[in-house]
Amino acid sequence: MTEDCTDILICGAGAAGLALAIDLARRGVSFRLVEQRSEPFSGSRGKGIQPRSQEIFEDLGILDRLVAAGGPYPPQREHRDDGSHAESAVMELTDPTPAEPYHMPLMVPQFLTEAIMRDRLIELGHRPEFGCTLTGFEQDAAGVTVQLAGSAGAETLRVRYLVGADGGRSFVRQALDIGFPGKTLGVRAIAADVLLSGLDRAAWHRFNGDSMVRQISFCPLAGTDLFQLQAPIPLDGEADLSVAGLNAMVRDRTGRDDIRIDSVAWASAFTMNARLADRYRVGRVFLVGDAAHVHPPTGGQGLNTSMQDAYNIGWKLAAVLCGAPDALLDSYEEERRPIAAGMLGLATRLLEASGRGEMRRGREVHQLDLGYAESSLALERPARTGGLLAGDRAPDAPVLGAAGQPSRLFTLFAGPHWTLLGRDVADEVSARPGLHIHDIGARGDLVDWDGHVERAYALPPGGRVLIRPDGYVGAIIGAGETAALEAYLAQVGLGVARDHG
Ligand SMILES: Cc1cc2nc3c(=O)[nH]c(=O)nc-3n(C[C@H](O)[C@H](O)[C@H](O)COP(=O)(O)OP(=O)(O)OC[C@H]3O[C@@H](n4cnc5c(N)ncnc54)[C@H](O)[C@@H]3O)c2cc1C
Repeated sequence: MTEDCTDILICGAGAAGLALAIDLARRGVSFRLVEQRSEPFSGSRGKGIQPRSQEIFEDLGILDRLVAAGGPYPPQREHRDDGSHAESAVMELTDPTPAEPYHMPLMVPQFLTEAIMRDRLIELGHRPEFGCTLTGFEQDAAGVTVQLAGSAGAETLRVRYLVGADGGRSFVRQALDIGFPGKTLGVRAIAADVLLSGLDRAAWHRFNGDSMVRQISFCPLAGTDLFQLQAPIPLDGEADLSVAGLNAMVRDRTGRDDIRIDSVAWASAFTMNARLADRYRVGRVFLVGDAAHVHPPTGGQGLNTSMQDAYNIGWKLAAVLCGAPDALLDSYEEERRPIAAGMLGLATRLLEASGRGEMRRGREVHQLDLGYAESSLALERPARTGGLLAGDRAPDAPVLGAAGQPSRLFTLFAGPHWTLLGRDVADEVSARPGLHIHDIGARGDLVDWDGHVERAYALPPGGRVLIRPDGYVGAIIGAGETAALEAYLAQVGLGVARDHG
């Protein structure tokens, strides 16, 4: 049996497992990331990167690479039976602001997103172990003993925590006997990545948009020569995903014989469900991503929500491994399960709307307004009645360093640390590992640029805002409330001040 040297086993190297691995790697936490597939997933399925996820990818150091690999969503072109067509924007267009630098969903096929995430992981000194399957586990008070099966045979490993990032059919969820209630939505569809001729790449082509039976659409996949074909299919029977089978469907639904599929790179037939795990944590074992929630692809929420689950639990696992109270890990389910419940409702409503031919998407899918206001980790002292609240996403803002160089709050937040931002604070919070302290004001190290910080945060003189490592407001503290701040810092594992010696 392997010695007790790995802190965390991540089961599954999809978007959720990779996001968690990147976060743990940059924190120096020891982990292994195992993936039962012998090679990376090759499909485009979760292709929309929402604005909130773009902010997170910026923090993880790969947003520019994703933008370079993908592109914006093209307009949708609704083809009519008489051969005419109408074009409209898929996304409501709004301009970015200093507080919200990314406003447009970005299109990157999932296989490219995951490849960029794997490269980032390699830069940080880790890689997924392909062809390695979690086959069993048992937990006790001190850790989890896991069974793995790989090319080298069976292996037993002892870890402190196990994270099931193993997708909708999650072995971990089933082994824990966690309920997965919800409903089957009575819709079955195919998604396929195809090379085709007969359609230009300037639009997302849709035919029979108002029929849930005869709809078919072709989305040019940014960064590739492929189109993603999507179409509902009957609930029962074999789905013919061959070139010939798809060409027959295309002819039948479009009435055109000039659209010809030449090859199929990936194809899948799937039945749509909306299901949510009863629990996200059992002792030392956690569920993230599709293992905890499945839903229709409408609205492009799945990959985004899965990746953000991982982003929520990563810093908490690292903190508890470094001595923070175990209760911090309970806040993972407390914060993320309500988000998934809301997302299930949104994706289901959008599925119903798409059956009526309504495809336009707005701010409701951007995930910028999601937060953790009800969390036990949200502290206001005194309570605030409006504006930015504890638990909200921390806004960006341009600032100047006292030395005169321009910067942004997001640049200061980037990395695994917490950030304490004060306005003209008089008393001191002592320096400690994992906390970056900045002050805006007459003798501060930062200057508010054009009042953007003031407008976004509305801190009173002497006030402080504490930003969590995942970019949410942990606490907003008024002048003279340093004791409340210290108690909060102890709760999240930052309570021990460094010996200044
Ligand atoms: C057909 C289809 C179309 C979709 N379209 C969209 C879309 O348009 N937009 C969107 O946002 N989302 C979409 N989604 C959802 C999106 O792809 C998922 O939400 C996302 O992939 C979830 O990531 P994950 O890492 O949680 O799970 P997954 O991507 O499923 O990854 C789980 C991984 O765990 C591995 N694994 C499982 N069991 C074990 C084990 N015992 N040991 C080791 N490894 C294991 C699996 O092989 C897999 O690689 C779609 C999903 C499907 C199926």
